[in-house]
Amino acid sequence: MNQIDYTDNEELKSRLMRRKDELSETLSEDEMRKAYDYCEPYKSFLNSAKTERETVEEAIRLAADNGFIPYEPDMELKAGDRVYLNNRGKAVILAVIGTESLSEGVSMVVAHSDSPRLDLKPNPLYENNGLAYLDTHYYGGIKKYQWAAVPLALHGVVILKDGTTINVTIGEDPADPVLCVTDLPPHLSVLQMKREASEVIKGEELDILTGINHIKGAGSDSVKLNVLKILYERYGITEADFVSAELEAVPAYPARDLGLDRGMIGAYGNDDRVCAFPTLTALFSAKLPKYTAVAVLADKEEVGSDGCTGAQSSFVKDFVSDLCENAKCPVRQCLKKSLCISADVITAFDPIFPEVGSVSNSTYLNRGVAITKYRGLRGKAETGDASAEFLAMLRRIFDENKVSWQPGEAGKVDVGGGKTLGRFISNLNIDTVDIGVPLLSMHSPFEVVSKLDVYMAHKAFTSFFDRDCFC
Ligand SMILES: [Zn+2]
Repeated sequence: MNQIDYTDNEELKSRLMRRKDELSETLSEDEMRKAYDYCEPYKSFLNSAKTERETVEEAIRLAADNGFIPYEPDMELKAGDRVYLNNRGKAVILAVIGTESLSEGVSMVVAHSDSPRLDLKPNPLYENNGLAYLDTHYYGGIKKYQWAAVPLALHGVVILKDGTTINVTIGEDPADPVLCVTDLPPHLSVLQMKREASEVIKGEELDILTGINHIKGAGSDSVKLNVLKILYERYGITEADFVSAELEAVPAYPARDLGLDRGMIGAYGNDDRVCAFPTLTALFSAKLPKYTAVAVLADKEEVGSDGCTGAQSSFVKDFVSDLCENAKCPVRQCLKKSLCISADVITAFDPIFPEVGSVSNSTYLNRGVAITKYRGLRGKAETGDASAEFLAMLRRIFDENKVSWQPGEAGKVDVGGGKTLGRFISNLNIDTVDIGVPLLSMHSPFEVVSKLDVYMAHKAFTSFFDRDCFC
């Protein structure tokens, strides 16, 4: 223990109390500029990666630009090699091979590629009183009323019976039309306003207004027929093709600088692009890491990580197993010594709603990446709960690399809670901790993050991939 002058209050304060940095107060102008520059390509990423498929496509495009090549199971890999494995176009694993044996474990950062949205049902198109609609089933945890009366774009794929993939994007090009879900006017909302907030717009009312013009003389359902005609002309698809389609309605506007000082980014899909993008850029900056560096963008996090592209699938373990098999290393040894950051956003303290925050244990915008020992709900259920040993190591690494970070929980005990995919990775016997960017308006069509925090996520993941010890 270092000696402290107990009579000096300032010294007592600075030595004994944890500092809470407001980053725009403490970061140098140079560091601020770097952070703002870093966020420009991040905004482009947000705009071109609104769905899980687009996120994976964009990740692979960036990876290829950074020297990554497709992974083959029998590949001979040496330190510094860069590979990626595309899992069905919806999840991806990327790795930079380390100098240390795989029996010493890997450094893994796992973010997710999906975001809440409105998915089209298998038989979505119908006509009602002269208007055509697309029937949807919402995906993930949303406040349904937030999705009415905002412009929507349609993204996704239609797979024809012969296997041809038709890519669909309607509503992003400024020359495109957009779609929307309608809401009642205040004048006719006396009954609607008496509904529970979760039912202000009901799940079955999230139908998307899609067309109004008839095909003249075509009789009944001719508005619907006209929409089908337009889709056929543009994409060559028919009504039956919706069955083998994955079409997702997402907000139709781009990411924007937010605030007069441009210190924040407002966008659809910040959860979890704001962790996925820094995961990628950190991996790209790892040239010759000691421990093999692995980045994963997993799908289906917003609905529980089930399915073959979600973090509960064996694809992450299979990839590590393949690497180990080729290197003649026992996979169990590798997993046991691996470390993982589950990179996901966390709800930041919102001064407008202080009643749900825990004053000294919330996370705040502009104070760096948030380290959350556990997420979960009620009595810390359904969470991995990172070890104190792992947290101590990360504190050291982050402080050495001037990463601004903050500890915290998502809100007051028992007011709600949230889960991440981290627990599924820790169930593989990998020490895992949740680290991510604090965010406001989570799961809304316009989520808010601080630019300085985004940059700190990049610095945090970079320093983790650069770690030189397991301790
Ligand atoms: Zn998330």
